[in-house]
Amino acid sequence: MMHAILNDEPGRIAALRRYDILDTPSEDAFDKVTHLIRALFGVPISAVSLIDTGRQWFKSIEGLDASETPRSMAFCDHAIRRDEPLIITDALGDPRFSDNPLVTGEPHIRSYAGVPLRTPDGYNIGSLCAIDTRARDFAPEHLETLKALAPIVVEQMELRMLAERDSLSGSMTRRAFVAEMDKRIALHIRHQRPAALVLLDIDHFKQINDSHGHPVGDRVIEAVARCCATLSRPSDSVGRIGGEEFALLLPETGEADALAAAERFRLAIADLVIPHDPPLRVTASFGVAAIGGGRMTSKDWLSAADAALYDAKRGGRNRAVLAPLTETCMA
Ligand code: GH3
Ligand code: MG
Ligand code: MG
Repeated sequence: MMHAILNDEPGRIAALRRYDILDTPSEDAFDKVTHLIRALFGVPISAVSLIDTGRQWFKSIEGLDASETPRSMAFCDHAIRRDEPLIITDALGDPRFSDNPLVTGEPHIRSYAGVPLRTPDGYNIGSLCAIDTRARDFAPEHLETLKALAPIVVEQMELRMLAERDSLSGSMTRRAFVAEMDKRIALHIRHQRPAALVLLDIDHFKQINDSHGHPVGDRVIEAVARCCATLSRPSDSVGRIGGEEFALLLPETGEADALAAAERFRLAIADLVIPHDPPLRVTASFGVAAIGGGRMTSKDWLSAADAALYDAKRGGRNRAVLAPLTETCMA
């Protein structure tokens, strides 16, 4: 395994954030690993722990009823500061941990084995660990197993990111975005929760490619994606659903607020100055559709927003148009 980059906390946090995994629901692929470690090692607790700025957050944890702890208490925060696994055979006899609240109180940790989760570019973003409530040694073959499983956990994080994120823009792929829409539709059907979809398409984009070349076109797409990501709220989803077409899913948002949001995005994109010689400016057109009676599949919902987007293009571009909820839609 390559050596870790140990003294670059901002780089480490950026590496962690790229996975977009903090505060996401548990996933089978990670739970299988912690389950396996518990069974193989005969320990009560195993975790995939990620060290954020001020906390450790568990992507998977078995045997402990917590989703996070302060970073100051995290054994894993010690594990990420080294190249090699961290083994604690008796926390009570170790001055670094003897007065740790997780040792002196629940869950009464006594021993720990943790292997850093190292990204392909060398940052330790967390650790894979086995924890016991009694003092113990960890057999060399168990440590080898832990060391073999840690890179598999990181690979899983890489795959997860690739499957849901578009590599050029960092936005969700069309597939992941549509899956998110389906969830919103289910919530609407069950609990009548409002939601709105905003589609945007860059105006006259072909001209940018034609005049400046495809790589410059790519930079424009990146800039627009970054603008959308910056302006959107944490609960919003941003997807790249076509070449130069993006979609925003706004939960708990009605059509008036969605139209206002689209206006904000429109003005922000029109204000972008994309570094080039000479600097480039672009505009985008928007179609907005609230979820409603006649829009009960992602396909219908997308079509409604797409029709409004088409009207915005026909109306002169650089504008946002709301898809009216028709009589039958409101029924
Ligand atoms: P309009 O205002 O009507 O949207 O005009 P437009 O030129 O933007 O419309 P059109 O859909 O005809 O052109 C989109 C172009 O985007 C065509 C395609 O070659 C280009 N494109 C699609 N994906 C990418 C990409 O990933 N990178 C680059 N550079 N160009 C792309
Ligand atoms: Mg287009
Ligand atoms: Mg276009």
